[in-house]
Amino acid sequence: STLTSSAVRRMFIEFFKERHGHKVVASAPVRPRGDKSLLFVNAGMNQFKPILLGTVDPRSEMAQYRRVVNSQKCVRAGGKHNDLEDVGHDVYHHTFFEMLGNWSFGDYFKEEACAMAWQLLTGVYGLPRDRLYVSYFGGDQMLGLEADEETREIWLSIGVQPNHILPFGMKDNFWEMGEIGPCGPCTEIHYDHVGGRDVPHLVNKGSPDVVEIWNLVFMQYSRAADGSLHALPQHSVDTGMGLERLVAVLQHKRSNYDTDLFAPLFSAIQQHFRCPEYRGQTGVADRLKVDMAYRVIADHIRTLSVCIADGVYPGKSGAELVLRQILRRAVRFSAEVLQSTPGSLSKLVPTVAHILIMYIIDDNEAQFLSSLKQGRRVIDRTLQNMNGSTIFPGSVAWSVHCHLGFPLDLIKLMVEEKGVTMDTETLDRLALENEKVKTQTQESEQDGCINLDPNVLRELQGCGIAYTSDLPKYQYSL
Ligand code: ATP
Ligand code: MG
Ligand code: MG
Ligand code: MG
Repeated sequence: STLTSSAVRRMFIEFFKERHGHKVVASAPVRPRGDKSLLFVNAGMNQFKPILLGTVDPRSEMAQYRRVVNSQKCVRAGGKHNDLEDVGHDVYHHTFFEMLGNWSFGDYFKEEACAMAWQLLTGVYGLPRDRLYVSYFGGDQMLGLEADEETREIWLSIGVQPNHILPFGMKDNFWEMGEIGPCGPCTEIHYDHVGGRDVPHLVNKGSPDVVEIWNLVFMQYSRAADGSLHALPQHSVDTGMGLERLVAVLQHKRSNYDTDLFAPLFSAIQQHFRCPEYRGQTGVADRLKVDMAYRVIADHIRTLSVCIADGVYPGKSGAELVLRQILRRAVRFSAEVLQSTPGSLSKLVPTVAHILIMYIIDDNEAQFLSSLKQGRRVIDRTLQNMNGSTIFPGSVAWSVHCHLGFPLDLIKLMVEEKGVTMDTETLDRLALENEKVKTQTQESEQDGCINLDPNVLRELQGCGIAYTSDLPKYQYSL
């Protein structure tokens, strides 16, 4: 059995959160906020740029970040990182993709970053070492930048074979967000889809056999408008791994389009367009145009859906214009190559939503369903034992809220359905006391509550839940 894409994503986040103490930060929208140097968010680090540059407001929550993990929606069309031309021709460049990343802001540096990446890929995901190649920055004489021998040594000490460690120049191993901004040498991890032989000569050569999967950037500089490099106030680590590429590797597919992130879209195309089926070939011959059209349309409909949901509409300038070009390319491939009828393109949107949004709802539902059952049991037992009273004890409601993640409104509703009123006075007092404790201890991340009802705890233990502080947070947070 292979991992689903949502399991792959979840394992990445959990690895850095649980094993290495990273804070989980949500994806920013694809429209950059307050950054005129970008058309679209093109990497996970975009939202953290002020931390890297040392310009973050010290009172903001972001200023506290030391270790962060996230999965960021990225669009690479227009601007410095523009992959629009590649889409459809190859099987691993998309205009929209998700970038999994971990960060250290003035915390750990090269050694730990490489060790964690290696541990995740080989230990957690179980990738064979002989399929992996790593690259490092080989220096640039003209710019007076030295080779990053330190990183080479680190990979050697981790146990990577010397002929799987390769130096490259500015183009591949010096990462820059845009024309200006944070940048630095990087080390990348590549995966050999074929195996059985050593192929260092295929790394970074555009071969579909050996594909770059993860980039670990050591942020040390900022590039100014005149092109000069300046040292940053602190050393940071910024990594990015393409989810679609990683999923292809873990689902043993040679093409990102054959994974569960795209396959349902291909079925939807065939169903709605009534066109020949996808055969998964790349090339230029006539028949292959159909395959190319599938890839372009699937890619572009994802980008269109995500951008529109984030408030970027097809239009006449900037990111809007780029989106319009993407839409028109999709229309052209649909109408001319797959001979679709008008209105077919938008029929694919529910499938995009299915792949990119429904898993979030399903995951959350799964997390709450068992709590719902337990909470129902606690509420019903309490109602049975009220000895004729018509006021539901606030302390029980409070504990169900804290311990099982029930919204307070929902408990009130469930109680009132049984013709009983809530002791809101007690409930409000408990909530207020809890608020006070939280502000005093300044633990914004603390979801735990005080004043839990011992009877409820006993009840929960009866259901097989032990009350320990290491229960998953969602079980007792809103
Ligand atoms: P490539 O050399 O393949 O174009 P890159 O060096 O431009 O990739 P980075 O800027 O290093 O990519 O981004 C980090 C990671 O994001 C890559 O290692 C890759 O896994 C993923 N990635 C980059 N561009 C794309 C894309 N257009 N579609 C899908 N994944 C991508
Ligand atoms: Mg690229
Ligand atoms: Mg590259
Ligand atoms: Mg790269």
